[in-house]
Amino acid sequence: MAGKPKVGVLALQGDVREHAALLETLGADVVAVRRPDELASVSGLVIPGGESTVIDKLSRAFGLAQPIRDAISEGMPVLGTCAGLIMLADSVLDAIDGQQTFGGLDVVVRRNAFGRQTESFEAALHVAALGEEPVRAAFIRGPVVESVGAAATTLAALDDGRVVAVEQGNLIGLSFHPEISGEARFHRRLLAAVEQTAGV
Ligand code: GLN
Repeated sequence: MAGKPKVGVLALQGDVREHAALLETLGADVVAVRRPDELASVSGLVIPGGESTVIDKLSRAFGLAQPIRDAISEGMPVLGTCAGLIMLADSVLDAIDGQQTFGGLDVVVRRNAFGRQTESFEAALHVAALGEEPVRAAFIRGPVVESVGAAATTLAALDDGRVVAVEQGNLIGLSFHPEISGEARFHRRLLAAVEQTAGV
């Protein structure tokens, strides 16, 4: 539909539906991206949580990995949550053998840094870029950002100082899942970047 920002959700594996539903409530025209032509049709992308090793393998098998890298280097806005943050990181610790990422965020992340699924937790985060109201963040076997390079900016950290949200240009990477705690502000930020870059 004319005037609606067209945003993709990488739909190879993970919690695709939750992101799609949230983006739709924000007025986006949402495309499930599994093929390069679907990627080419969108002006922004969400990489969901799930399992980064699987998203990596499938994106290469489906011929999407290089087109996504190209889109990132051309400035396409991308929001990566949890496994999606891993996919955006330039460097990954505790990766499996041969695991690759799309890259773009000048950070080092560590997979599964918060332990097992049963050790999932919620935290209230202060994210200055999003205003006063705390972010309710759900952590589910998420990565932690071990180091933030010069090109990237920290958006949020836990009370113990561990970095869990970063931004670099049009890329946002989160260790947690905003889409399951009803937190829409990161998706709004993505849509704002899409509207700026696509001129919608
Ligand atoms: N542990 C997963 C991985 O390494 C990420 C978990 C998640 O996305 N909820 O990809």
